Amino acid sequence: MPPAAAEGPSAPQGPVAAPPLTTPETATPEELERAAVTISVADLEERVADTRDSWETDSMYEDILETLEQESGDTPGSCTPEEASRLRRELREYGPVVFAQRTLDSGRYTARKLLTAFNLKAPAFLDDCPDEDFHPLLTVAITRELAKRAKLTRYNTVNDAVHLLQRSSNVIVLTGAGISTSLGIPDFRSKGTGLYSKLEHLGLNDPQEVFDIHTFKDDPTIFYSVAKDIIPSTDRYTPTHKFIAMLHERGKLLTNYSQNIDNLEIVAGVPKDRLIQCHGSFGGATCVECGYKTAGEDIFPDIRAGVIPKCPRCIQRLRPAAPKRKRSSEGPNGRRRRRKNGHNDDDDDDDDDPAYDIPQAGVMKPDITFFGEDLPDEFSKRLTEHDREKVDLVVVIGTSLKVTPVSEIVGWLPSHIPQLYISRQAVTHINFDIDLLGDCDVVVEELCRRLGWELKHEMVAPGRVTVKTEEGYKSRHVFTKETSE
Ligand SMILES: [Zn+2]
Repeated sequence: MPPAAAEGPSAPQGPVAAPPLTTPETATPEELERAAVTISVADLEERVADTRDSWETDSMYEDILETLEQESGDTPGSCTPEEASRLRRELREYGPVVFAQRTLDSGRYTARKLLTAFNLKAPAFLDDCPDEDFHPLLTVAITRELAKRAKLTRYNTVNDAVHLLQRSSNVIVLTGAGISTSLGIPDFRSKGTGLYSKLEHLGLNDPQEVFDIHTFKDDPTIFYSVAKDIIPSTDRYTPTHKFIAMLHERGKLLTNYSQNIDNLEIVAGVPKDRLIQCHGSFGGATCVECGYKTAGEDIFPDIRAGVIPKCPRCIQRLRPAAPKRKRSSEGPNGRRRRRKNGHNDDDDDDDDDPAYDIPQAGVMKPDITFFGEDLPDEFSKRLTEHDREKVDLVVVIGTSLKVTPVSEIVGWLPSHIPQLYISRQAVTHINFDIDLLGDCDVVVEELCRRLGWELKHEMVAPGRVTVKTEEGYKSRHVFTKETSE
């Protein structure tokens, strides 16, 4: 049900007021820009509505609004953090219609300022526009806010978090690249980080193409030119991995949903049946031609040597057939007959290569999930059929939760289940109950200390962890540790 908060001048059907569009021949650039904004706002509205019903919608609307995101209080004239949080509470309490009456209609707030209560800033191109022009965007902000899970107001302090960990026995832990970066493992999926800058010279439109299944099938050399930088190069794991394993040892871990592909959860002691590797892992590899599977380590030597790993079964099958092609000079004919052993009975059918050149064995692909590939089946199965009924605490660590569908797990679980967030920076697109900010290894160290759990790990340096509550946010705490180096 769309809110009726911001009724535009000529609202036809949806809550977004779509002013009549000027035809391109007569429109000024400014008008075109505004028309485009109106269209994209209408598009966003639709997506917001879709997202409420559909579990597998992508988060594109988040991406668009991301450009307008800011923290409350960041710019002059915006709501303070306390004010913003009060306004958001009022919206839920009174509903959008009464909320709009109490704020806009009463003249207490302009739409421009109200936007900042939802962590959005006014777009620059609306700078000189009347306040009504902010209504469509405000409607999107309100719709988006109402689609979010509401923060549980009774959980705020670090000790509340500690108490929740103590009393819970079915914890879902959602992890991302941030829990492995202290080992020097790159956060390779996100833009602007180390690995992608190495990719610029490959001439791809979007660095994410490296992990696109179609690109891989066209030209595996692109992926394998960077693969040696992302294969697990260590058996070390972080204090945060250890913390998750400790939850398991204490009978508290329901499931660890990991977006990481380094397989270090297993090394740290999280059992396979408590771990869902949402994006697959380097633990296995599969031939793209024949589906032959091997252990992941089997292809590591090739990857490290900069060689594209080929399927051993395909090679076996091609070997006897090779001399039939016009490359017989390379084929050891005598050995062919001796080795003939039934492997080649249907080889000729496989030979559909029009180039008629060197026989091609299939390329081995690590079992990490590429863009364009389905996520592992066990992901949604476990969540819907096993975890949703049992979970009593959600702990999100080291991920900004921007990649679907993992990002949608938290919104999909029952909203009364408390949710903790451990990461360097707070996020605005999800309302967590308590934000524990800082280096996640430092945060878990302090949590363990308060829990009385002994965190034995060589990366835990001597020294004290300092915790400061961020001004204006009673549930946001910043953890730092001074090391004497
Ligand atoms: Zn094969």
